[in-house]
Amino acid sequence: MKDGIDVLVHEVGPRDGLQSIQTIFPTDAKLEWIRAEAAAGVPQIQVGSFVPPKLLPQMADSADVVRQAIEIPGLTVSALVPNLRGAENGMAAGAHQIGVVLSVSEAHNYSNVKRSVQESLDGFSEIVAHRDAHPEYKDVVISGGLATAFGCTIDGPVKVADVMRVAEEYLKRGADRLSVADTVGYANPGQVKALFEELYRTVGTDVSVGAHFHDTRGLGLANAFAALEAGVRELDACLGGLGGCPYAPGATGNIVTEDLVFMLESMGLRTGIDLDALVACREIMERHLTDEPTHGAFATAGKPLGFQPATAA
Ligand code: ZN
Repeated sequence: MKDGIDVLVHEVGPRDGLQSIQTIFPTDAKLEWIRAEAAAGVPQIQVGSFVPPKLLPQMADSADVVRQAIEIPGLTVSALVPNLRGAENGMAAGAHQIGVVLSVSEAHNYSNVKRSVQESLDGFSEIVAHRDAHPEYKDVVISGGLATAFGCTIDGPVKVADVMRVAEEYLKRGADRLSVADTVGYANPGQVKALFEELYRTVGTDVSVGAHFHDTRGLGLANAFAALEAGVRELDACLGGLGGCPYAPGATGNIVTEDLVFMLESMGLRTGIDLDALVACREIMERHLTDEPTHGAFATAGKPLGFQPATAA
């Protein structure tokens, strides 16, 4: 954890948000957005994903975006990858953190990356080996993703035991951290608290664990709170809740960064983020949108009278 921060807010909008909408942001627009959020104090941003451009044309410039984003002082730059090829490209571009995609649900994993869970885990080992074979990549953090950890649009319920098995496999294979995702917005707060408690019992509390929630059914912030209660201190979010869910037309995207930061700061948890500057970033992002709606209650309602953020101004 960076100094002076109690909870790490990881902005994933330039990846999760942009990959879910029609509008393709030019590289400069992405960087304008990323620079503005970094200036507002956001410590870590997922700036793209290294996937074939045929599949996600929105992410075709990820190497360029990473190369320029790592020049921003103090910002941790993360990128998502589905396989070794993506990881090679991400590390070559200079990403500080590589998030590897794997869905705990077999059917979802196959539909997403055309591999079994076992094959994805073997691919993860190759990525760790690639990092370890190159001294210049020794500081790259490799994060094991557990998508569809709370349910799957193809398989329905996902067993907690399966989540634990994949988490243990990741750590055995050299993961530096874990990222547990409610990819399709199925989770509820009781389930979230129970799953993270079980995860810490299984892997120990020394492992750094992030949580990734979508607000598809309105429970995003409640789920984030439940994860906090269980001990999670790294949360993904997206400015203006940009994005959606490929399985639920019209649905909202990730939990809203501004609302999450407001919740954390109100609770006395320091994020290092200036809320006014963060809200101002919405306008920068919205300038490049075409039809896509943005979300968020804090930006509409503003601060309560007498509000004191935990992060010193
Ligand atoms: Zn997501």
